[in-house]
Amino acid sequence: MADERIFQYNSDAILEVQNLRKCFPIKKTITGKVTQELIAVDDVSFKLSAGETLGIVGESGCGKTTLGRAILKLHQPTSGRIIFEGQDITDYKSSQMREIRRKMQIIFQDPYSSIPPRSTVGGILSEPVSVHKIVPKEQVKDYVLDLMDKCGLRDYYYERYPHEFSGGQRQRICIARALSVQPKLVICDEPVSALDVSIQAQIINLLKKLQKDMNLTYVFISHDLSVVKFISDKIGVMYLGNMVEYGTKADIFSNPLHPYTQALFSAIPYPDPDVKMNRIILKGDIPSPANPPRGCRFHTRCPYAKDICKEAAPEYKDYGNGHCAACHLLG
Ligand code: SF4
Repeated sequence: MADERIFQYNSDAILEVQNLRKCFPIKKTITGKVTQELIAVDDVSFKLSAGETLGIVGESGCGKTTLGRAILKLHQPTSGRIIFEGQDITDYKSSQMREIRRKMQIIFQDPYSSIPPRSTVGGILSEPVSVHKIVPKEQVKDYVLDLMDKCGLRDYYYERYPHEFSGGQRQRICIARALSVQPKLVICDEPVSALDVSIQAQIINLLKKLQKDMNLTYVFISHDLSVVKFISDKIGVMYLGNMVEYGTKADIFSNPLHPYTQALFSAIPYPDPDVKMNRIILKGDIPSPANPPRGCRFHTRCPYAKDICKEAAPEYKDYGNGHCAACHLLG
């Protein structure tokens, strides 16, 4: 492919996100000039190696779903770079994205609305396999049946319709569909939050097993810290569009640096009635991303805020072992 905008990067990361920003216009003049915008994702950077899972956590509205969609280019980034398998795909056109889209899949939160209701399970899973010519035509059915088996779906489900299944089984169909085209990277956008608690563990265990068997890389978006702790190798904490802390699971859980991460983690229930929880209660609501506070975006709720926090945004720095955070207190 000879395109001068394809840059090659010397990195062992399967996915590298550099200073990614995504804004949505919310007010325009009559001539179409944008006068107000919502900054959903702002200056987010990280690297992910093949086979790893990055858990993205944060409250509703912090930008984690927009980040996932911007990585897949379902939302075109406003600025920043997305480098996938060494290629800068940020400005790829849809024709160039065709093969990349096969390698980057998404599993949505709602298994009820994300699969076509009028197709059988066999039809839902066969279509992407045929479109992307994953196997020869005569092998498609055997390929799909094998995939269904890997995803815990019985072979006689092949002729059944989505409405005949429970939420957990439908999510297995969604997972099978995402994996049918042999992707490298899967964005899991709250894949278990619409399911009963008893089913969540089964789906998480299935995702872990399939990751090992197929060497998949996951970006796992969730507001459930226990789930993220179980499945992730690295964790990114988002607040109002910024990634305020990033590092390995061990570093983030044993030594959370950012006051927001400390507050989030203090809310994780501990299964021992004798252990006293030192919960940090944050005051106020998350501000609007259409009108974020100056300086550190967390200063309106931070228990340690100083005068400088209201004026200057803290620098995002590496405090060792790739454990990064943005806070004036850290120096
Ligand atoms: Fe709190 Fe200031 Fe650190 Fe922001 S920079 S997290 S307001 S102490």
